[in-house]
Amino acid sequence: MTSGRLIVLSGPSGAGKSTIVAELLNRCPLPLVLSVSLTTRPPRPGETDGVHYHFVTLDMFQKHRENGDFLEHCEVFGRGVWYGTLREPVTSGLNQGKWIILEIDVEGARQVVREFPEAITLFVHPENLVELERRLRARNTEAEAAIARRLDVARAELSAAGWYKHHVVNRDLNACVNSICDILLSYREP
Ligand code: 5GP
Repeated sequence: MTSGRLIVLSGPSGAGKSTIVAELLNRCPLPLVLSVSLTTRPPRPGETDGVHYHFVTLDMFQKHRENGDFLEHCEVFGRGVWYGTLREPVTSGLNQGKWIILEIDVEGARQVVREFPEAITLFVHPENLVELERRLRARNTEAEAAIARRLDVARAELSAAGWYKHHVVNRDLNACVNSICDILLSYREP
């Protein structure tokens, strides 16, 4: 069996990445698997441990770090909230021919391409920052300061995303999912 492909999908929080990934898994005809990250942030309502994230303590996160278990990891929004991707599930998925999607931030993505330069990197842009702010507020899950922090990170991410191989604007969910699926299919070996 040929080895799978590594896909890195980034974009500001609120750009619609999770919905896009769910749709891709549903209808893009490739053996796609979403990598489940570790995070030290608490679950939001509706999030399930082991499905959306592995929710872990800071202690446990540090242990993985010391063991060198992470393919990439970083502190995404400051204030001691960490996110990371374990190396083992990724490499074993790739060996099984899976196409593994990492939904991670720009800093983590840089760490991944250092090791996997052939990774397919995709950046999802919100239609604009005004729309992004509206979506973050519509979620109604976060305090004002947290929203402001996410918008700051979004501005920084947008200006640091030039090196991604593919850029897609999420103006219309359906169209966005279709174009990402087409991009991925173009990497299929004949
Ligand atoms: P949220 O807390 O809204 O689920 O995610 C916040 C941000 O963390 C998102 O932009 C997401 O892409 C990023 N993120 C989620 N998991 C990981 C990970 O494993 N590594 C890195 N570097 N970023 C992640």
